[in-house]
Amino acid sequence: MHRMYENEDIVIFWNSDKCFHAKQCVEGSPKTFRPGQKPWICLEGSDTKAVWQAISKCPSGALSCLYKHDIDVVMEPEACRSVAFDGSKEIGECDYIKSAKGWNIVHTGVSQEYTGKGIAKRLVYKVIEEAERNKENVTASCSYAVKILEE
Ligand code: SF4
Repeated sequence: MHRMYENEDIVIFWNSDKCFHAKQCVEGSPKTFRPGQKPWICLEGSDTKAVWQAISKCPSGALSCLYKHDIDVVMEPEACRSVAFDGSKEIGECDYIKSAKGWNIVHTGVSQEYTGKGIAKRLVYKVIEEAERNKENVTASCSYAVKILEE
């Protein structure tokens, strides 16, 4: 299961398949990482530096995080894509095709001047998360999305 959690500063990625519940994250920032609660990661009122340090101690690679850079990533399910915006300006997208076998991610792209900020990862994660919430199988023919699904 893939999930993203965010506040105005950072975006946290969590892959439950890799998490072996060693709980270093909980020890590092108990206010943010709350096993047994929903959502189990809550960034409300969290200290970004402490959260970042706690994530860096995750031994499994289940957790990672990025700065948000004031970029929003949203789903547009009617268009089968996730989209990244800088204000009202569209700066990236991740497209998928629906079939009886599930959702296949076919393309991920971010405008040249916005590369290096982790926006592509957020776009792909958004689609994976949405597919999983809809109990759909997710595959990828986009090479970048393949990498995210495998990491
Ligand atoms: S530190 Fe990493 S492996 Fe341990 S519980 Fe947290 S997310 Fe899971």
